[in-house]
Amino acid sequence: MTGITGQCLCGAVRYRADVASLDAHACHCGKCRRWTGGPALCLEHDGAISFEGSEHIKVYPSSEWAERAFCAVCGSALYWRLQGTSYYSLSAGTIDDQSHLRFARQIFIDDKPSYYDFANATEMLTGEQVVAAFNADNPTE
Ligand SMILES: [Zn+2]
Ligand SMILES: [Zn+2]
Repeated sequence: MTGITGQCLCGAVRYRADVASLDAHACHCGKCRRWTGGPALCLEHDGAISFEGSEHIKVYPSSEWAERAFCAVCGSALYWRLQGTSYYSLSAGTIDDQSHLRFARQIFIDDKPSYYDFANATEMLTGEQVVAAFNADNPTE
């Protein structure tokens, strides 16, 4: 476990979490691109996050199963979460020390628009592969 801290652009929301991995991923799906203005760079975390300034967190249900949270003061995208669970994708850009992150994976690669490409050598998963892997990890879903 590695302890990480982070905050939104204005600092109204701060957080702390113990994460199992520092492997970051990029999501190229259309929702993430609208949400962040580009591909979403995120760190997966299954567990507790302790927030300061949580009264400033606004939660938007972006589908029937997921929600996205942002700072109501500055608009920073904070996290995507599987509703009713402790499974988060934290916005990597909000982490205070990003020097130890590893760019491991790109997901929804089949939704990526053609105008950009990351040069990093990463694992690549299509949307279908992401959903299949997720269902395999969560057999009750
Ligand atoms: Zn803020
Ligand atoms: Zn996405």
